[in-house]
Amino acid sequence: MTRVTLSRNLAMWSTALAVAGLALLPAIASAQSPAEPTAKDFQRLVDEAYAKFKDVTEGANANYIPILDTVPSELFGVAIATRDGKVYAAGEQDYRFSIQSVSKPFTAALVMNQQGPQAIREKIGVEPTGLAFNSKLALEIYPDRSVNPLVNAGAIAAVSLVQAASEDERWKLIHDNLQGFAGGELPVLEEVYTSEYETCWGNRGIANLLYNYGRLYSDPEEALRVYTRQCSVGVNTHDLAVMGATLANGGVNPLTGRRMMPAEHVPELLAIMATAGFYDESGEWMYSAGLPSKTGVGGGIVAVVPGRFAIAAFSPRLNEAGNSVRAMRAISFIAGELGVGLYGPNTGE
Ligand code: GLU
Repeated sequence: MTRVTLSRNLAMWSTALAVAGLALLPAIASAQSPAEPTAKDFQRLVDEAYAKFKDVTEGANANYIPILDTVPSELFGVAIATRDGKVYAAGEQDYRFSIQSVSKPFTAALVMNQQGPQAIREKIGVEPTGLAFNSKLALEIYPDRSVNPLVNAGAIAAVSLVQAASEDERWKLIHDNLQGFAGGELPVLEEVYTSEYETCWGNRGIANLLYNYGRLYSDPEEALRVYTRQCSVGVNTHDLAVMGATLANGGVNPLTGRRMMPAEHVPELLAIMATAGFYDESGEWMYSAGLPSKTGVGGGIVAVVPGRFAIAAFSPRLNEAGNSVRAMRAISFIAGELGVGLYGPNTGE
């Protein structure tokens, strides 16, 4: 083969490759930025999820906080909120249930805002426990005592880590932060607060142990009161969806335009939600839904599709791990239908 033919051949090949490459481009581009579902798709999916799981009666209301056992078990709501502030909903949207542990990532965000993500890593931790949400054993077996800001120990530590000059200021900062994420006023459900505070012997033990080990950063009883109040904030399904959409929108509330956290810290927060948002069922949840999420014993769950939208659901009956049965099913169904699992389209099963 002469030099000329060689270079002609090379030129032919490179043209062919370029054409093949161009043909591949749309596929690559669409893999990187999948087309957003339409308003119709979102509405159809929340309606379908509601209809599909409304008759599920598995699980039981939380009853270790006595008042939670009195919430009507039949309530069920599903909502999707997008990063441009649209909300698609089915079922119950008005009933305000206690936010419980769904509050935890948002207070972690407040600590990150004040002191940077290193404060979370160094003063609380970012590892899943593999143990129940209220585990005291975790405090004894892990050298750093608290392991992440989404289990009770780490969440009580996060409350204590918020920089405030008084208990009142600590509470105001936390409450305002939750309201900022939701884009509206959120009441405290005083009956829930009283019921939980009167019975929170386990959490009191956790707070005192943390203090003993130098991993609580305020007076333990103050941290416990503010933590319990934070868990008693009332939200509805719509509020939860908007809180998630704020994370999906890089930290800016899509309804109010208020920046709630720097965009560069959102991935760090979502990483903790992915590994610990479902407590000791987090692996199972990533397997079925593939989305960073947070659950609460009030029956609420919020899942975030990073950069795109959030899916929230609420229903009081919980499984053994403390996660709402209907809410889990509704969210993994929608995530599966839309193929939005982080690691590739999940089946939702
Ligand atoms: N306030 C509840 C507790 O401390 C939160 C638990 C949860 O929602 O998972 O037990």
